[in-house]
Amino acid sequence: MKGPRIGLMGGTFDPIHYGHLVTAEGARVEFALDKVLFVPSGRPPHKATEQVTPAEHRYLMTVLATLGNPHFEVSRIDIDRPGPSYTVDTIEEARREWGPSAQLFFITGADAILEILTWKEPERLLASCHVIAATRPGYDLSRLEGAIGDLWARFSSRIHVVQVPAMSISSSDIRERVRRGHPIRYLLPEAVADYIYKYRLYEAPHQSAEARS
Ligand code: ATP
Ligand code: MG
Repeated sequence: MKGPRIGLMGGTFDPIHYGHLVTAEGARVEFALDKVLFVPSGRPPHKATEQVTPAEHRYLMTVLATLGNPHFEVSRIDIDRPGPSYTVDTIEEARREWGPSAQLFFITGADAILEILTWKEPERLLASCHVIAATRPGYDLSRLEGAIGDLWARFSSRIHVVQVPAMSISSSDIRERVRRGHPIRYLLPEAVADYIYKYRLYEAPHQSAEARS
């Protein structure tokens, strides 16, 4: 018997926004996934040099954002694993948890999949799960085959493209808006915006309360 179909949406989620949520829901529906686990990274390997918000804040914002969807859950597997968060290790751990018959789908945006050759052990990753690549404004997925060459030849049946409504939203832009005191409403769930202001995330140093209101 085939096991559950589990989607894993990895990310820094600093903060989580509607681009992430629309991508996860689009993948869930199109691939008939039983659930989608959001997996906030512990230490994101590609962002090691940047300032990343403490994992507990990113975890809690992800919980708040996914509360209303009964098919969405948040996993602590990357946060609780020491060292950089490599996707191949995340999938290995998910496999241990869900068993050999589970069908695992790693969900990623176009920008991330175009860099898959720079990930740790991409071949072992594709041998152990499917990858769903979601369209994202500014990144051309028709380049994918050329960009990953040999990997495409061997694993194209495990890489799936899903078209999601184009949302030109990014966490970096949201952080920048907060830093400048610009609005972020309608880019992310209200509870996440409330959390950001309550804990004064992303503020420029010494920013006054007046500048934020
Ligand atoms: P940052 O600007 O800090 O890099 P981000 O908005 O890209 O943040 P991440 O946490 O880096 O968010 O992304 C997690 C995953 O979600 C990645 O696979 C990324 O490609 C995907 N993603 C993020 N935003 C979108 C979007 N607007 N549309 C489709 N996919 C997205
Ligand atoms: Mg990103």
